[in-house]
This record gives sequence, C-alpha cells and structure tokens, in this order.
Amino acid sequence: MRAEVIALGDELTTGQRLDTNSQWISRELAVLGIPTAFHTTTTDSLADGVAAFRTAVERADVVVATGGLGPTADDLTRDVLAAVAGEPLTESAEALAAVEARFARRAAPMPESNRRQALFPRSSRVIPNPDGTAPGIDIEIPRAGRGACRVFALPGVPGEMKSMWSAMVAPALVAGRPDAATILFRRIKCFGAGESAIEAMLPDLVRRGREPLVGITAHEATITLRIAARGRDDAACLELVAPTERLIRAALGDLVYGVEDDEIEDAALAALARAGGTLATAEAATCGAAAALLAGAASRGGLDPQRGEPGVFRGGLVLPAAVESATALAERARKELGASHGLGIGPVRAPDGVEAVEIALVGPGGGRTVDHRLGGAGQVRIARAAKTALDLVRTSVQSPPRPGSPQP
Ligand code: ATP
Repeated sequence: MRAEVIALGDELTTGQRLDTNSQWISRELAVLGIPTAFHTTTTDSLADGVAAFRTAVERADVVVATGGLGPTADDLTRDVLAAVAGEPLTESAEALAAVEARFARRAAPMPESNRRQALFPRSSRVIPNPDGTAPGIDIEIPRAGRGACRVFALPGVPGEMKSMWSAMVAPALVAGRPDAATILFRRIKCFGAGESAIEAMLPDLVRRGREPLVGITAHEATITLRIAARGRDDAACLELVAPTERLIRAALGDLVYGVEDDEIEDAALAALARAGGTLATAEAATCGAAAALLAGAASRGGLDPQRGEPGVFRGGLVLPAAVESATALAERARKELGASHGLGIGPVRAPDGVEAVEIALVGPGGGRTVDHRLGGAGQVRIARAAKTALDLVRTSVQSPPRPGSPQP
C-alpha cells in the first residue's frame, strides 16, 4: 500500500505559502507504515484538481488531500471529487446541521455560501470538523481490475487538518490494515547534543522501513525520538518498543533526560528534589526565560511522583545586561532568595567574534561555569540558552548516595 498527498491552493502554487501540510501528513503516514510515493501541489482550478486526483488514484492506494473545502467559489475540492467519482453532489443533512450549529454557537447567521460545505459526492462519508466549518470528505474511488482507492480530503487550516487526521483518518487507515490493530508511541526526550549528532550516535535506528520505526524531531534544542510500534494490542507493541528504547538509552546515556511530555525544567527540578536542594535564578541574558520554565514546571508537577514539591524553585531575578560574571549572579540569586543552589545566566561576550553567554551554577559543593555559544534568532536563541542552563542543573546536581550503595 502506498500513498499520495495532494495540496490544493493558488496560495501554494504561487509560492505565497509553504506547503507544510504535506510534510506533516507524510510523516504521519510513515508512522502508520504507509510510504508516500508522491506529493502533488496544484491550483484551485477544477480542471487541475481533477487531473491531479485522476493521476493519484491510479498510482496510489490512499490519497490524502488538504485545502479547498471552504465556502467560497474557489474552494472546489468537493466538485473535483464528485467529477473524479462520476457522482453528483448531494446535500448531507448531518454536515449541514454541523455547519449550522457552528454558526448558532457564535450567535451569527449562516451565510448562504456556507451551505456549499454540506455538499458531498453521493457515496462519500463526512469527516466531522470539531474546530471549523469545513467538514472533510472520505470517499472510495473504484478502479478497474483492482481494489478502490481511498481518498481523504481535509481542510487546509493546519490545526483543523491535524485534529481530523488524528480523530478519523489515522484510525480508519489502521483499521484497514489486517496485520495491525494498535499503534503505540513512546517518546524519549534528549538534551545536550544537536539533532544530527544524536542521529549519528544511534546504531542505524532512524531509517525508513524499520520496525518499530524511530523518528527524530528537534524543538528549541530539545530532541525527541519517537518510537512507533504496530501490533495486535498494547502489550505486543510494548514488547516491540522495549528493546529499541534500551538501545537508545545505551547509545545516548546521560543525554536522555526523560520521556513523553517531560521537559528539561522538569528534569532539573527532579534532580534538585532528589538531592534535597532548592534553586534560585538570576538572568541577565535570557529575559527571565529560565525562571518562567521553572515556574511553569513547578506549577504542573515534576518528573517523578515527588516532583513539584512546593519550594524547590525559590524564584528568579531578571537583571540588566551589565553584570560582572555568571558566578556573581548565581551567588546573588542564592543569597537573596534563600536557596541552596543559584543559577546565573549572563553576561554575553564575544571575544573572538562568536557570541557566547556565561552560565554558572553554584551550590553547597562548589560551582560550575560553562560558556554557551548563542545560536538561532530571537526567541529560539533565548529558549536554547535558558534550557542549556537548566540542563547544567540537571547534569550537575548529584543525588546523595543511597544507603547501602557503594561509595565512589
Ligand atoms: P477553510 O476555507 O475552512 O479555511 P479550506 O479547506 O478552504 O478551509 P484553504 O482555504 O485552502 O482551506 O486554506 C486555508 C488556510 O490554511 C490557508 O490560508 C493557509 O493559511 C492554510 N493552508 C492551506 N493549505 C496549506 C498547506 N498545504 N500547508 C500549510 N498551510 C496551508
């Protein structure tokens, strides 16, 4: 089984907007074990749309399309599908009720043009859209001499498209596979090395067609490895995931700080909680970003059941850029806010033309200072520096040895 992804819209073909939907959908298809063979981007015109879908249904078994489901005259995806299926458009009472209900909730009259969004090719099914007015279309296009091609048409708005994918399209595709009833994801979170460095450290795990599949994504220097296992049930999936997770942990060691929704600030607070420590911050280069992350983590709980213990994070100072050293900042935070550990971020220096921010952690056992080279722009640059500082906490604060365990 292979797929084609179609993106419809003049906005895309004229280069005014980048087609990120197709990228996202292809990744999701890969997770389901369905390779994408073609990406097609086409205009809003009926003739171009019909040509694109006719070609796609011949060469792919699943077609996922986005865009062109709105109420305006240039939103023609439903007309395109009716033409390709050779069927008339008929009004769906279910879809009309959903569109009307959406306007009723906003106490706004429904413009007549929105009625179009309740028109569906006769044999198709409605994919509900909980976040917008444009419902999606699920239709099978018969092919001579072989099975039908399944076509899903979703709205162009990325948020709507993604929630409809997760709620309806992915489950429908999984249900269509005789060999796999369940998909289980495991996310391993890493910090301290770049995406390509991490990929290079893994023993050939991130490759197409591997079972279970391992994907890698980066967000503001946090690297997520996502293991996707397909199996009969959850237990079978977990059995598939475990050896891959062990391989990842063995290869990456201390770069792995958590799993699933854990963030680096959760890991930093958990390390402090285990060591019986408390933390205060003083930032002269990151606009309070580290303090905001820590305050957010403390308010939602920590990495382990004891995390989020009130009081581990004692507060943060945000100071002007002109400071002497990160160690002085860390000492000041510790004293003023009464914490066992102080984290100082700043100043920024560029002695050889490369900007770096000084980061210091001081605690009862001494201090550590690192220089973090500033990369990226704007918010990303700040977020990376703040997270690097929190990672220094995670990797530096040592837990007291457990009773009975050998002393170093
Ligand atoms: P609606 O009319 O309800 O907004 P639609 O299905 O008609 O939905 P479009 O009008 O084609 O969707 O696109 C709506 C918006 O979604 C676009 O203006 C654009 O911002 C975004 N969008 C559309 N297609 C893509 C795409 N392939 N990648 C990223 N963004 C897209």
